[in-house]
Amino acid sequence: MSATLAALLGLLQPDWTVQLFESADAVGEESSGPWNNAGTGHSALCELNYTPMGPDGRVDPAKAVGINEQFQVSRQFWASLVRAGLTGSPSDFITSVPHVAFVTGEDGQRYMRARYEALAPQTLFAGIEHTEDPAVLAQWIPLMMDGRDPGEPVAATRSDAGTDVNFGALTRLLLDAAAQRGVDVHLATRVTGLARASDGRWRVGVQDRRSGAKRTVSARFVFVGAGGGALSLLQASGIREIRGFGGFPVSGQFLRTRDPALTSRHAAKVYGQAKIGAPPMSVPHLDLRLIDGERSLMFGPYAGFSPKFLKQGSFLDLPRSVKGHNLGSMLGVARTNVALTRYLIGQVLQSTSARMTALREFVPSLDGGDWDLITAGQRVQVIKQDARGRGVLQFGTELVTAADGSIGGLLGASPGASTGTSAMLTLLERCFPDRMDAWRPVIQEVIPSYGTKLSDDPALAERVRAETAATLQLTA
Ligand SMILES: Cc1cc2nc3c(=O)[nH]c(=O)nc-3n(C[C@H](O)[C@H](O)[C@H](O)COP(=O)(O)OP(=O)(O)OC[C@H]3O[C@@H](n4cnc5c(N)ncnc54)[C@H](O)[C@@H]3O)c2cc1C
Repeated sequence: MSATLAALLGLLQPDWTVQLFESADAVGEESSGPWNNAGTGHSALCELNYTPMGPDGRVDPAKAVGINEQFQVSRQFWASLVRAGLTGSPSDFITSVPHVAFVTGEDGQRYMRARYEALAPQTLFAGIEHTEDPAVLAQWIPLMMDGRDPGEPVAATRSDAGTDVNFGALTRLLLDAAAQRGVDVHLATRVTGLARASDGRWRVGVQDRRSGAKRTVSARFVFVGAGGGALSLLQASGIREIRGFGGFPVSGQFLRTRDPALTSRHAAKVYGQAKIGAPPMSVPHLDLRLIDGERSLMFGPYAGFSPKFLKQGSFLDLPRSVKGHNLGSMLGVARTNVALTRYLIGQVLQSTSARMTALREFVPSLDGGDWDLITAGQRVQVIKQDARGRGVLQFGTELVTAADGSIGGLLGASPGASTGTSAMLTLLERCFPDRMDAWRPVIQEVIPSYGTKLSDDPALAERVRAETAATLQLTA
């Protein structure tokens, strides 16, 4: 997120002095690291949680269209950066991998028909295919159909517009480019505190992790793009807008294989349906990953619980985040989310054989194989107060900005990195409203759809799709 904001500011206001502080020894190694997230270019082509079925048996496409729209913003921005020389090979960070949604059972088939009928007429979902034919599925996802009961009802949709994104590599590319423009990227430097000075500026306390040396930096504007670390820094800032917010950390694990016998037979990201009681981010999926030119398969996520807010965080992160102003929200969430708590306990206690059983639902012919269990990034789900002051757990992202626009931060992790450009544009709109008139034409040069909806403009959508596909070397 911070790298995206640095890239946007480099374009809009190259005369500003920008400094970036990263507590790790390298950038892009927390949630954005390639093995810490699933690398799905989230555009709602396969994630069924964006298209729930209503009581009338219909699927409302609005949420899916909105997510896809945001991903198109990212695609346009990345394409413009590639044209400007970000990298000679876009496959360094993005590659085409078809997105498939897969369900079993007659209810699943019914749902999938309703979802296809809702999405197929949408401009942004042009080209999506649907089938209930096992023979077609044997071509789309051979590894998953091999050994499957031929009598089992199945259904799927497939889109060639799907992508696999290495957000860690993208972060490095963005910040290498920023550093060349003069942005100071301070590694191994932890932000320890934030305080408002009498001149209205922020005093940002930073500490060199290697030498222990501390200093203070003064800034007119601060973006807290610290992933799971954002909540505590925003709390430290004392802004009114963070009151009532809390965080609920959920950790994730994936099974990964590089076995060519398996990776050569699965060329898609295949998302299934979440189990009852499971949170939306634990929808099981079997993904082809293309990281540093190497093929691997990733299955999961298996959810878990750790009180850390960052993978490299502290076990005290959760207890330290509890304050007088968010205690009520946090207790409220604990009381009303018993099913989630039960689900997480079940996941934490899961044995290796239970994990393999879950994988076998996707790959029925699985016969052992060389799978290792990897630990992904921490997601800190947002706890906030609803209109009636009750604590609610939400699974999206939340941009928190001070009323005077001098500080902003991002909480939560879904749809996450894929929609980072949209999130950072919203941050700019909220924190710099008086500059937007001057910035708008520059933004529209790199993001032609900015200020409009591609879903309402099929001609522009087609032009943007074709241009970004050509620049990013994608198939669709
Ligand atoms: C299991 C899992 C699967 C996911 N799958 C997907 C997916 O398929 N597609 C998708 O789009 N998104 C996915 N996401 C979400 C996505 O990974 C995140 O939304 C995104 O990477 C967050 O980026 P960020 O810059 O906010 O945070 P991060 O990438 O975590 O970066 C924050 C940085 O701030 C640094 N930092 C923290 N505290 C401090 C401090 N005090 N001082 C200095 N530096 C600090 C950290 O070291 C880190 O480098 C997934 C997340 C998880 C956990």
